[in-house]
Amino acid sequence: MRIDILTLFPEMCERVLNESILGRAKRAGIVELYAHDIREFAGNKHNRVDDAPYGGGKGMVMQAEPIYQCYKSLFIEGEDKPHLIYMSPKGKTFKQSDALRLAQYDRIVLLCGHYEGVDQRVIDEIVDEEISVGDYVLTGGELPALIVTDAVCRMLPGVLSEEVCFTEESHFNGLLEYPQYTRPEVWHERPVPEVLMSGHHLNIKKWREEKSLEVTEKMRPDLLKNK
Ligand code: SAM
Repeated sequence: MRIDILTLFPEMCERVLNESILGRAKRAGIVELYAHDIREFAGNKHNRVDDAPYGGGKGMVMQAEPIYQCYKSLFIEGEDKPHLIYMSPKGKTFKQSDALRLAQYDRIVLLCGHYEGVDQRVIDEIVDEEISVGDYVLTGGELPALIVTDAVCRMLPGVLSEEVCFTEESHFNGLLEYPQYTRPEVWHERPVPEVLMSGHHLNIKKWREEKSLEVTEKMRPDLLKNK
C-alpha cells in the first residue's frame, strides 16, 4: 500500500513516518509513506499558498491551485485517481472500521489543511471523503493524517507480528480490551490476577472475555448499544 500526505509541514510528518512500527514497515517494504510539500506548488516567487477569505473574517484560507497541482503531481493523466481524504473537523469521525476499510485501498492520499482551512472549490473538485479525528479543532491536519496513517498501517499484513495483535484489541469487535499485566507478579502490593498465572488457557480466555465486557460497560456503555 502507498500513503501520500499533502501538507505545508512535511518534516513534521516525516519524523513520525520514519519512527517505530511505521518506520519498520516502511523499511521492510510493506508500505510506502510520503509527505509532500504543498508550498512547492505555490507558483509564485514568495511561495505563498494562502490568502484572506472572501466575505471577510479572521485568518487565512489555503488556496485551491497549489493543493490541486500537488495532488496532480502524484499520478499521470489516464492513471486511476488515488482516493483522496481531506482531514477536517467537519468530516465523519474516524473509527477502527474506517482503518480496516482504508487498508483495502492500494493507495490513499491525505490532505492536511491549516489556518482557517481550504478553499471549498478544491474540496468539491478532488476530495472523495472528509475524515475528522474527533469533535475538536486542531491547528492543522498533520496530526489527524498521522493518526489515520498509523491506524491504517497497523491493519496491513506483516506490520504487526500477528493478526491477533489487533483482532483482540479495543474497538476491533466493538468492545474494549481486557486489562493487561506483566512482570513483576506483585507491584506496590497489587498482585496479578491469579487466573493469568494458572496457565489454564480456557479459563484465561473466559476471564478476558468477562473483563472486556466489564470494562466496556464501565468506560463506554454506548458501545454495547451498537452490539
Ligand atoms: N475553520 C475550520 C472549521 O471551523 O471547521 C477549522 C480549520 S483548522 C484550524 C485547520 C485544519 O486543521 C483543517 O483544515 C483540518 O485539515 C485540520 N483539522 C483541525 N481539526 C481537525 C479534526 N478534528 N479532524 C481532522 N482534521 C482537523
